[in-house]
Amino acid sequence: GTAITASSIDSLSQHFPLCMRNLHTNLRKNHHLKHFGRLQYTLFLKGIGLSLEECIIFWRQSFKGKTDDEFNSQYKYNIRHAYGDVGGDVNRRGRGYPPYSCQKILSDNNVGIGQTHGCPYRHYSVDNLVGLLQSTGVSDKETLRGVREDVGKQRYHIACNRVFEYSHKNEIKKVKEDGTWTQADLDTIVHPNTYFKRSYLLKQ
Ligand code: SF4
Repeated sequence: GTAITASSIDSLSQHFPLCMRNLHTNLRKNHHLKHFGRLQYTLFLKGIGLSLEECIIFWRQSFKGKTDDEFNSQYKYNIRHAYGDVGGDVNRRGRGYPPYSCQKILSDNNVGIGQTHGCPYRHYSVDNLVGLLQSTGVSDKETLRGVREDVGKQRYHIACNRVFEYSHKNEIKKVKEDGTWTQADLDTIVHPNTYFKRSYLLKQ
């Protein structure tokens, strides 16, 4: 497919799971994200295929209030580090750190008030979660009822898969009827980058 660039992220964000979509929305709203949000989002963007050069452009353009000097001294190194372009760990040279899985994001016990990283299914109150889902266009009563139930049972990633299935129900029906996708292609999603990839492929 075509290369993913800094300027394609806004439109691609329609395919992001709620954790990453929430980071993106907050970044656009505040022109800033805190450290752990930047890290979680940078690694995800790397995982969808954004090159280091384009990722630096993406963050530079997103931090509107910063001067070039501020950006270069405070943020650029961490982006390069996430990509393995700098840093002491020789084993990670050129690769950097892997994008976070749901398990890694869900098990973060240090997501405080006012922070936007983490998993909204786990780290938000259920009312805030439902509000956030509605703001992304998920307003189906049955789906939201199911989400509340899943979250009540601490089945956070199941709630996320439920939302995926609802948001892609027509496309899923079609590839199943076509026989172009097998059930294995529609396994439970346990990684934000899988969520993106599957959504992107289904909506082509
Ligand atoms: Fe993101 Fe995974 Fe949470 Fe879904 S379950 S919002 S993909 S961390």
